[in-house]
Amino acid sequence: MYQKLYPTSECPPKLYGLPKIHKINAPLRPIVSSCGSVTYNASKYLAGVLGPLVGDTPHHVINSEDLVNKLHDVKLEPDDKLVSYDVCALFTSVPVDQALEVIKTKFAKEKHVSDISAHQIIQLLDLCLSSTYFVYKGEFYKQKHGCAMGSPVSPIVANLYMEAFEEKALSSTPSPTPFWYRYVDDTLTSKKEQEIEAFTAHLNSIDTNIQFTCEVEKDGQIPFLDTLLHHSEDGGIETSVYRKPTHTDQYLNFQSNHPLQHKRSVVHTLFHRAKVLSSSSSRERTERKHVKSALRNNGYPNWVFAAPKPKKPRPRSSDDIVTGFPYVRGLSEKLSRTFGKHGVKVYHKPTNSLRSRLTHVKDPTEKNKVCGAIYHIQCSDCNEDYIGETERPLHKRLREHQTRTQSAVYEHIEGNNHTLNLESTSVLDTELHPFRRKVKEALHIKARRPSLNRDSGIELPSVYDLILN
Ligand SMILES: [Zn+2]
Repeated sequence: MYQKLYPTSECPPKLYGLPKIHKINAPLRPIVSSCGSVTYNASKYLAGVLGPLVGDTPHHVINSEDLVNKLHDVKLEPDDKLVSYDVCALFTSVPVDQALEVIKTKFAKEKHVSDISAHQIIQLLDLCLSSTYFVYKGEFYKQKHGCAMGSPVSPIVANLYMEAFEEKALSSTPSPTPFWYRYVDDTLTSKKEQEIEAFTAHLNSIDTNIQFTCEVEKDGQIPFLDTLLHHSEDGGIETSVYRKPTHTDQYLNFQSNHPLQHKRSVVHTLFHRAKVLSSSSSRERTERKHVKSALRNNGYPNWVFAAPKPKKPRPRSSDDIVTGFPYVRGLSEKLSRTFGKHGVKVYHKPTNSLRSRLTHVKDPTEKNKVCGAIYHIQCSDCNEDYIGETERPLHKRLREHQTRTQSAVYEHIEGNNHTLNLESTSVLDTELHPFRRKVKEALHIKARRPSLNRDSGIELPSVYDLILN
């Protein structure tokens, strides 16, 4: 438990933005990345504890396929309209204290939620949700309202809060709704045309923090998630795949440096979506035709469409050995086969993508504040050097080299009356995972043989010698 909750690093959460290209002037969607922050591990743990509590309601929708299945049996009255509601800025609207109350009530009904007490969970949750500081352009800010944006537990808390909210809203409305299907902050329902305005006002009166925007079907159609709903004349709801008007039909290009398997899975995913979201075979045919033509424009040859379905991966067992390699065309396929013979599954990570080359959405971290660095330092007065690793911000570790008497670097500078050249310190690599960081450190030591290191870090299997020498 201690290991799960203890912070392994202390990077401040960072704010950045991704443009919403489907809106006028492409406003930025703010995102906070909290990887490596002090509450990140605790938040992840809480997400694991609270996650299973979400969805214990008939209003919960898992994904668009689930929604389509739920809509099969819906029959609308002649004067019903399909209406969708969207909560404005959900995460930053959920009031932390009220959300904690909702979760406390939920806990009271559950027998066992975690190895630590419900009271402790609530305290920890309060800490994680209220730790809303972040860095933007080198300055610290605090998010004043709602749950911490980058915390992995926030979406789960928002969902639980909305479950309590909708129960209250639906049980107190003067005009009951035949169904209410919600996916996080998007809800689909149906209303008599003349009731819509009053119902929207009712929803917005429940909790001043939670405000909805409303969209009513137009020409018998309304988009919801990635599905277009068609209100048919007999009162049934037909469905087809929906793409935003700004969708450019760009998919992973067939010439991209990715394993064939990834490209096959693009085809499979799009065909699968066509199948599950289309309410009739003619709608599915239309969608498949569209997908094929879009994929041809992305360089896909016809044989990929006819290829058999990718084998369904056997569910992972805890005995499986799985490892990831950067993808190198030709070599990776051979490695996969060799490893496969020994019962090791390999997945491929494409590296050097155009995206990673061209987009840098987050502010760069100043060199001396980097967490999880493998660093190289040099003496100002001679050529002696040292390679080390640290989970903490680099400057804290560097200070120790200048003050801690048992450090090899300290011994050198003190013994010879030399000084450290901190300016020339370089970050060779970063890795937040402790074991992987130690391996990377050992690899750098092996490759560079720095003179001041007393040992070569953790022991590496001899197979590395073949690669490094
Ligand atoms: Zn020196």
